[in-house]
Amino acid sequence: MTEKICTVCKEQKLIERFSKRARSMDGLSCCCRECKKKSRNKERDALSNKLWYQKNKERRREVHKAWQESNPGKKEASTAAWRRTEAGWLSRMLANARSRAAKKGIPFSIDKDDLKPLMVSHCPALGIELVYHGAGGNRYDSASLDRIVPSLGYVPGNIAVISYKANRMKSDSTTEELLMLAKWVADNTLSMEVA
Ligand SMILES: [Zn+2]
Repeated sequence: MTEKICTVCKEQKLIERFSKRARSMDGLSCCCRECKKKSRNKERDALSNKLWYQKNKERRREVHKAWQESNPGKKEASTAAWRRTEAGWLSRMLANARSRAAKKGIPFSIDKDDLKPLMVSHCPALGIELVYHGAGGNRYDSASLDRIVPSLGYVPGNIAVISYKANRMKSDSTTEELLMLAKWVADNTLSMEVA
């Protein structure tokens, strides 16, 4: 054997271009000297970036602190404002769903792009106008995330945005129970109105 193909650059090179490696089958390194050097440089760059980052950490912290001191209350106000935005709602829903999925051992594979198109103005089940807020307690009209078939988890195609009220009603009952309840209420209300 006088030549060998490098596994990184895929070029066929003379075996002299490969360093020795006792553990490998042919006693040579799998990639050529040039590729080895490149990867070493890459490692070094990554390391120096990291060192630079660490060195500047303190400095950035000081700048940030100084800004906060000269702008009292601004950070809290901007965090609160952000939580009321669409982005705040999205990240809250995703964080809640992720931890609920982990707790229940059900699938989770959705992201912001899956959720955005589902952000409707009214609850598709009850017609309630939805409020999108990223913080605070839930109200009947809070936009919430529904798993259409609960056991399938938070996966694209199995989620809907519905009102917190509809979500609660649904999660407390089976489909059959909801239908039975609706029928009973309708039947009794009608007979009361007749009487
Ligand atoms: Zn190579």
